[in-house]
Amino acid sequence: MIIDSHVHIGKDIFGIKNGILNFNGTLQKQNIKEYVFKMNKLRISKAIIFPFPSPLCQFGKDDFWYHKENNKLFNDAQRYENRLYFIPAFNPLDKKSIDYALELINKYNLRGLKLHTRTVQYEPKKLDQKILKTLENNDIPLVLHIGSDKEAELIEKNISISLEPALKLAKENKNVRFVFAHLGRLHKKLEEALNLDNVMLDTSGLSIKEVWKDYHAKLFDEKLINKSPVEIISTLVEDGFEDKIIWGSDEPYGLSYKNELDYINNSNISRSAKDKILRKNSINWYKL
Ligand SMILES: [Zn+2]
Repeated sequence: MIIDSHVHIGKDIFGIKNGILNFNGTLQKQNIKEYVFKMNKLRISKAIIFPFPSPLCQFGKDDFWYHKENNKLFNDAQRYENRLYFIPAFNPLDKKSIDYALELINKYNLRGLKLHTRTVQYEPKKLDQKILKTLENNDIPLVLHIGSDKEAELIEKNISISLEPALKLAKENKNVRFVFAHLGRLHKKLEEALNLDNVMLDTSGLSIKEVWKDYHAKLFDEKLINKSPVEIISTLVEDGFEDKIIWGSDEPYGLSYKNELDYINNSNISRSAKDKILRKNSINWYKL
């Protein structure tokens, strides 16, 4: 059984408005049916799904974009019970957005909460107590997008969304569990994150690492940055982290869904390590 722990459903309003294409040349959108078709093709059994990253400030009267997206996705996912697990996204700068997301979680016993730090331009330092308490009480993780600090619009505002502030947040809130996305963009403090009991790392986007690896070279883990995705997974398992990594694709952002899965399948690790990364760790962390 394979579980994909990082999938976006809906449409990327930010990408569409700014004419940003996906790496495979398409606009960043996919509906639930399209995604389930892809799952079936690769024999993926279950997936954690969330909205695309969308900033609230862009939309004038569509102020509650995440609210609308969350509700739509929640309803659509109902038809795929025990297969698709929807977790809501929110804007930490908007109280209503927080309330809507937490209400959904409590009402329907959802398995996590997603924070896309880039588009809401938010350095994850101190989160609203309400959010932290909900995560702790429900014993569910906060999924944090991790950037590379190459984001021009954030550099301008002196906002960091790299692994560094995420680490600080996790250390200050030991009773809250986290998923740091994109293997922390292979930040030089990745090992420190892997060693925290309340943190899991997802692999999403690793197959397109060549696209983002040239930025800010000083931030990267020197041991890993020039390795291929297959070698990176093998090295992390060799270093003893097979319980600390879950596979996620970031579909539909990557070049190919199959490539994103192949770096696990083709890595030189034991069957049991593969099973942990592709299935067991996600089941435990998200309580599926
Ligand atoms: Zn993502």
